[in-house]
Amino acid sequence: MPNTRAPKIEVLELKADFVKFVLSDTDTSVANALRRVMIAEVPTMAIDLVTITENSSALQDEFLAHRLGLVPLRCEPGTKFVYNLDCDCEDNCEQCSVTLSLDVSWESKAAGRPDHEKDLPVFVTSSDLVSHDPRVGPVHFASSDIIDASQDDGIMLAKLSRGQRLQLTAVAKKGIAKEHAKWSPVCVATYQFDPIIKVADDVSATLTVAQRQQVVESCPVKVYGLDERTNNIVVRNRLECMYCDECTNVASSLKLRPEDDAVVTVTASQDRFIFSVETNGTIDADQVVQQALEALSLKLQTLRNELINVKQKILAAA
Ligand code: SF4
Ligand SMILES: [Zn+2]
Repeated sequence: MPNTRAPKIEVLELKADFVKFVLSDTDTSVANALRRVMIAEVPTMAIDLVTITENSSALQDEFLAHRLGLVPLRCEPGTKFVYNLDCDCEDNCEQCSVTLSLDVSWESKAAGRPDHEKDLPVFVTSSDLVSHDPRVGPVHFASSDIIDASQDDGIMLAKLSRGQRLQLTAVAKKGIAKEHAKWSPVCVATYQFDPIIKVADDVSATLTVAQRQQVVESCPVKVYGLDERTNNIVVRNRLECMYCDECTNVASSLKLRPEDDAVVTVTASQDRFIFSVETNGTIDADQVVQQALEALSLKLQTLRNELINVKQKILAAA
């Protein structure tokens, strides 16, 4: 009989750079495949080629090129690029690449400073990178909260002292993190098993209020509370559970005999997974999930087609 299970997604929290959702009615292999595709197979743009015209900073060219590669580049939603290897152009073109330039000297940045700051080094940051394609540009901060709290004007690339200059051209290309981590769209993509937390009311009834309070207070993330009316233990924030076992240890210590039931038990659901995905700003969090699902679906379709081909060849040869 075919397996009629149909996985579902329920979104718990959604922001531009963060999504928390529950994937249910599936198993660990699918959850892990989705996690890995989100990390390594959702394409983004990243700097891949750097031509340095002048570098009199203290940093070596290779070091700078590596730093530039790790600057996240945001594409406007709907912007489509082709992979450079699949493009018809000889080197790079606007279908497959974006050019960025940077030209900063100590003198240009230090101009207009007050006297007491005039000999200090200047900072070269991602905000000095000028994109030649308005649809693509560097992500300077992870969120607007950080912009308000930060004294920088972007991701630090180098410091220049008097007389030093950095002048370069960079070419960003489309890629996936399976090739290099700089193309990963996420800084966090994790899941945990949905916790199943049970309170045995009959056991709870045998405990004193102080003992119940002890169980409630054992949880560092305040999963439990005491019902105001009955003083029974209730589960308030199930999704906060991090499987630390503090509550079950206290519950075990309150047993009169080892074979007695514990007042609380915590187990992990095997078919519900709570995902937390945080992007680095290159694409929105919901897009990361959608594109990962599409990539996963394409892989399964390819596998299916290959299996059909192999089967047909075997049948033809028989
Ligand atoms: S396992 Fe830890 S986090 Fe989970 S409910 Fe118990 S004490 Fe709280
Ligand atoms: Zn091209």
